[in-house]
Amino acid sequence: MEKKTAKNIRESLTSDCSQCFGLCCTALNIVASSDFSMNKPAGTPCMNLRSDYSCQIHSQLREKGFKGCTVFDCLGAGQVVSQVTFNGQSWRENPNIRKRMFQVFPIMEQIHEMIAYVAEVLSYDITDDLADKLRKKLKELQKLTKLDADYLLSLDLVMYRFSINELLTEASDFVRRNSIEKMQSLRNFNEYNHARADWMGKKLKGKDLRATDFRGAYLIAADMRNTDLRAVNFIGADLRDVNFSGADLSTSMFLTQMQINSAKGDVKTILPSHIHRPSHWIH
Ligand code: SF4
Repeated sequence: MEKKTAKNIRESLTSDCSQCFGLCCTALNIVASSDFSMNKPAGTPCMNLRSDYSCQIHSQLREKGFKGCTVFDCLGAGQVVSQVTFNGQSWRENPNIRKRMFQVFPIMEQIHEMIAYVAEVLSYDITDDLADKLRKKLKELQKLTKLDADYLLSLDLVMYRFSINELLTEASDFVRRNSIEKMQSLRNFNEYNHARADWMGKKLKGKDLRATDFRGAYLIAADMRNTDLRAVNFIGADLRDVNFSGADLSTSMFLTQMQINSAKGDVKTILPSHIHRPSHWIH
């Protein structure tokens, strides 16, 4: 697989709500918080969901206290469950499938997330050995998306996650190591490791943070204005309210649309090609 093909796969993982039966607005539970102005148990439709599965407050979600809905992104899992797994049958027309459809949705979300990470890393310069292993994983994951609901419900996703995480870490370490060498940095590789660090609210404006490992880090409300974040590993990092205005995230690794939607930024923030600039960054 060429790097360009892998990049295309990564970029294609976007939600198409017109092909989904409002699964994120129904299957998932909502807990009242600063992100949601109400509670809703899993498996019940949100009171704002219309009969055609569109949202009646779509243009005012933030103003009405539903900021969380503007952050959520299923990476295209919703339309695959609706149109592939359940062949275009909706839970409204066929209540018999309701329970299984809602159970399959979070499983498909996780599969799509793994596909996104694997495809992304296959678009980087990595070793042939790693690329071979990752290509095999990508094929396995793509096959899973076509399986029936019963098979999907029986999957041991922990096993998949574990083996894929090891490969992703190896690949991102390889990319970061190369970046550090090119920078001719005086710091050694381990000094770039801030995995799971608690840097909430930290003032990092204008810093050169290239090639940092921020795996699972808590960066909530950190000031990263005008920072250089190329080749940074952001997998699983909590980026809520991080200010990325003017920052360079062009080659940051494993950034998701949800992470970016939960952060702040502006027209000058440089984003990877698979990430769209959130509308609330501009207006
Ligand atoms: S407010 Fe709208 S987008 Fe949010 S869960 Fe309800 S219907 Fe879905």
